[in-house]
Amino acid sequence: MRLVVQKYGGSSVRDKERVMNVARRIVEAYDAGNNVVVAVSAQGDTTDELIEKAKEINASASKREMDMLLSTGEQISIALLAMAIEKIGRPVISLTGWQAGFKTDATFGNARIKRIDTERLKGELDKRKIVIVAGFQGLNKNDDITTLGRGGSDTSAVALAAALGADICEIYTDVDGVYTADPRIVKNAKKLKDISYDEMLELASLGANVLHNRSVEMAKKYNVNLAVKSSLNNNEGTFVKGENKVEKMLVRGVTRDNDVARISLCGVEDTPGKAFTVFSLVSKENISVDLILQSIGRDGKKDISFTVKEDDLESVLKILENNSDIIGAEDVKFSKDISKVSIVGAGMVTNPGVATKMFEALYNVHINIAMISTSEIKISVLVDKKDAERAVNAIHDAFLLEN
Ligand code: ADP
Ligand code: ASP
Ligand code: MG
Repeated sequence: MRLVVQKYGGSSVRDKERVMNVARRIVEAYDAGNNVVVAVSAQGDTTDELIEKAKEINASASKREMDMLLSTGEQISIALLAMAIEKIGRPVISLTGWQAGFKTDATFGNARIKRIDTERLKGELDKRKIVIVAGFQGLNKNDDITTLGRGGSDTSAVALAAALGADICEIYTDVDGVYTADPRIVKNAKKLKDISYDEMLELASLGANVLHNRSVEMAKKYNVNLAVKSSLNNNEGTFVKGENKVEKMLVRGVTRDNDVARISLCGVEDTPGKAFTVFSLVSKENISVDLILQSIGRDGKKDISFTVKEDDLESVLKILENNSDIIGAEDVKFSKDISKVSIVGAGMVTNPGVATKMFEALYNVHINIAMISTSEIKISVLVDKKDAERAVNAIHDAFLLEN
């Protein structure tokens, strides 16, 4: 029998009408003769509301207790969705992440799935039950509840598909596929028929949060057939698949990431080992550095700038302060009012004019570039946050409008 894994995001189950709508769609797949396993997210803005609730009591609560709290959002959804399916009259069971066998590493708030013990899942499927699994959660080796990072339910779904050998993993959300840019920012963005794992992984990592980046990483690793579709219509979605199966486009999409903070160390002594000192201190605290820019030395001094996630800014500033004597910067500046705007496309590697065209598009709308970073399949620039949406639109017009 065919096995279908479906995932429904928060907006798809935000109220009772949407829950009933999702229940009907699941039953349709079941009645067509498929085994159906569903991963579901917390309703609407529940996760954000829970985070706010926690902050009212303790703004620096431990990550363990945060995970204890946040995992409750998904438990509400699975129960309600199972009840909706009971009402339609099909056999169904809801399972928390741990009941479904999700084992993760110990990183609270951003745990990685290590394996899924599928015994219980398979037992329920053998009874021809629809299985509704709480996304975003698992259990570490100490039996503590962990969560997988914001947007992590996508990864729960792909992990289920991989572990159970599903025929397809369908991600249902509030857009009907992956677009050339976030349709909320770019009005004339176009839906992609298909996209390679590698390109999708870059898009997701660079701010296209329609898919959690780890879900794409996992889909690639286990060769999961992945589709992004709308839970509100039956439009054809976007397929994410192996590289050789998709057309190579120069630029596949444009993204914006607002979760960026920049730190500049000004007037650092121009001697060997300075960058090593700074970045080893930062990486020791498990903080990832993204873009890095170092000026050439002048009068024996140089500047080092780099970006981190906004949430890590405070910690980095503290590290720099605690080690100011060995770093020896004349001044430390930082800003959160910046965004990273990127283009992604596997065809870029063989086409030298791409960066120029991107910079020209920004020049034409008078947007200043603060930092640049390139790889074989992407180019990122740092711009003022207030310019980011204009930048995305200008770049999108330059590359993707005509296709
Ligand atoms: P869900 O709650 O279903 O997980 P998300 O809000 O996480 O939904 O993801 C869907 C949203 O992703 C869309 O509403 C859209 O605004 C945003 N998005 C960002 N980039 C893209 C893109 N390139 N294509 C489609 N949607 C995108
Ligand atoms: N509920 C979680 C979040 O809001 C997980 C998810 O939606 O995928 O991040
Ligand atoms: Mg999501």
